[in-house]
Amino acid sequence: MIIAPFFYLFSYILLPHNTNDVKVPKSIQPVQGKEVKYIYLTFDDGPLVGTSNCIDICLKQKIQATFFEVGRHQAANASGRALHNRIAQYPQFFDIANHSYTHANAKYKYFYHHPNMAFDDFVQAKKSLQVKNNIIRLPGNSAWNTMVLKKSGKLVKPVVLKLDSAGFNVIGWDLEWGFTKQGTPKESPQAMARYVDTLFARNRTETKNHLVILMHDHMYRNSVDSAKLATMIALLKANPRYQFRKLSLYPGLKNGGRP
Ligand SMILES: [Zn+2]
Repeated sequence: MIIAPFFYLFSYILLPHNTNDVKVPKSIQPVQGKEVKYIYLTFDDGPLVGTSNCIDICLKQKIQATFFEVGRHQAANASGRALHNRIAQYPQFFDIANHSYTHANAKYKYFYHHPNMAFDDFVQAKKSLQVKNNIIRLPGNSAWNTMVLKKSGKLVKPVVLKLDSAGFNVIGWDLEWGFTKQGTPKESPQAMARYVDTLFARNRTETKNHLVILMHDHMYRNSVDSAKLATMIALLKANPRYQFRKLSLYPGLKNGGRP
């Protein structure tokens, strides 16, 4: 998904930062048992306005999550670099993963019709973001390519094959929390929690008992919308069988997710 330029105009909303000495809680240690269901929250397109709230909420709720960053958003200014560095301070909670350098410049067909150029774009992002895993998400496309999952449409297949040859995993999503034209969360947190329950109950995820949720950092740039994220997480946490994980722990990754 591409971000409307007006998002850049918002100043960063900073919640009180009282989370710097937070420790890995027992609740995110691996839990044994057949019935555990794993939820992977993924925040795309940052660092941007909203990223800070996503970090704060996950730390406060003591849950793991993954930030799919866009290289040039990190490199664009001091705020982008600061947000990136803040996420990187908490490797026990967060993965930073590769969402390309340019986000295809929002010209997806052109990007995917030029697989060498697209591949180089991901390599540039890997370097600039100093990504510590081999996980990629394609801009604007939910393709999957791990040791186990092989799902990509005709448009993106050439670049997915190149990424595969270079040892990358490509991860899509099982469920998206959409956003309105104003960039605010489309569904209620209660509806999102119900979707999660339903997808698990009907075994409608790419990997049984593992569910990846796509969201975008910019959706949570104000306090009202951030509260919705916190509410959804709290609703899901109320189910003792649900565990939040970062994507480097997703099953079936090539080289165990390591670069
Ligand atoms: Zn995106």
